Amino acid sequence: MTYNKKSVEDIDVAGKKVLVRCDFNVPVKDGVITDDKRIVGAMKTIQYLVAQGAKVILCSHMGRPHNVLDAELKLDKKEKKKIEALPAEEQEAAKAAALEKGKKDITKLSLKIVADDLAKKGIPVTLAADVIGPDAQAKAAALKEGEVLLLENVRFHAAEEKNDPEFAKALASLAEIYVNDAFGTAHRAHGSTAGVADYLPAVCGYLIQKEIDVMGKALDDPQRPFVAILGGAKVSDKIGVINNLIEKVDTLIIGGGMAYTFFRAMGCSTGTSLCEEDKLDLARELLAKARAKGVNFLLPVDNIIAREYKEDATFMRIYSDSIPDGWMGLDIGEKTQELYSKSIAGAGTVVWNGPMGVSEWENFASGTKAVAKAVADSGAISIIGGGDSAAAVEQLGYADKMTHISTGGGASLEFLEGLELPGIACLLDK
Ligand code: ADP
Ligand code: MG
Repeated sequence: MTYNKKSVEDIDVAGKKVLVRCDFNVPVKDGVITDDKRIVGAMKTIQYLVAQGAKVILCSHMGRPHNVLDAELKLDKKEKKKIEALPAEEQEAAKAAALEKGKKDITKLSLKIVADDLAKKGIPVTLAADVIGPDAQAKAAALKEGEVLLLENVRFHAAEEKNDPEFAKALASLAEIYVNDAFGTAHRAHGSTAGVADYLPAVCGYLIQKEIDVMGKALDDPQRPFVAILGGAKVSDKIGVINNLIEKVDTLIIGGGMAYTFFRAMGCSTGTSLCEEDKLDLARELLAKARAKGVNFLLPVDNIIAREYKEDATFMRIYSDSIPDGWMGLDIGEKTQELYSKSIAGAGTVVWNGPMGVSEWENFASGTKAVAKAVADSGAISIIGGGDSAAAVEQLGYADKMTHISTGGGASLEFLEGLELPGIACLLDK
């Protein structure tokens, strides 16, 4: 998918009310933001708009709150089911308790914590008490040039995720221009991520612009050789990505749990390794497709195997692609690391999604570390997409050596699958 979208720099924002969809869905523990990367990431676009004299209205979701700002508080499907499973005489009380809990989201999942953090970072922000209600309307109307208003959590309304046009229209009516800078939700057609673009001229912010520039270029006009590294737990999570990338890459490197489904498909024994029996035919198809396209398809030649799926499980290295009975493959071996690193070293473009093993556990992290190092040292255009792989790269201290670490797990996967992202498709073309 190639996108050539207008950005904040392509539209006159001075003196205008500009609604910016940010991704402020930050992790919070005991009332403290534990990782402010997303807030830091959003600052460039906000600062540009402030400097241009725009009247800036920020909005975002955080977590999965109840629809606490709707006239009637509804329970989600999961809660409903749980309550319906209870004996009839207990259901009323359980429902009341659940609704009471829902009301607590107003404080628990309020964006106040984000407003405070932005202020600490030098961007003073006023917080509205609602999203499209009277407080948001009054505060938006009173905004002066260069001032910043933050609306409450957009998911306090059920209409947000339903992409209800009335909600989108009400949200849009607060502003004159819409800027989407929330890549992490760009694959969702929600009110604040796509719906508002029906009512306002819509452009992207710097974050989305970088995502589409770097990833779009890598996929459409890559510097070759183009090497894709795919890992993670399951083939089924990455079918679309493998399918799309096979069309484009010179080399496809497979690691992680998904390797064992390919091994089984080729007739190798895989012991108790993660293996998706119902995906064997698909794995064979993908192997055949790679062969037909002349893609160099690399699978591990040695493996770190363990007795059980446990952090401190007994483990050993085997110099084989077959896993003995009673053992499971939890990482790629040294020989494979060497082989993969060599292939990565010669790459012009590298796209990496998914760790090479259970990288959360020290004993099974060396494959992921080796690949991260190889990508960092390669000098290639390097793109990391996927939550766990991005976390591994950051934790290992290689973040600065990568061309681009995508900020959206699901969104970057869908981008790599070649799917259209509604939050980007809705923006004005250049
Ligand atoms: P990403 O978030 O980068 O897209 P995934 O979520 O697809 O990656 O995969 C990461 C998960 O895969 C991790 O939790 C990791 O423990 C798991 N994993 C990797 N290799 C194996 C393996 N050999 N067996 C079981 N789980 C694995
Ligand atoms: Mg993941």
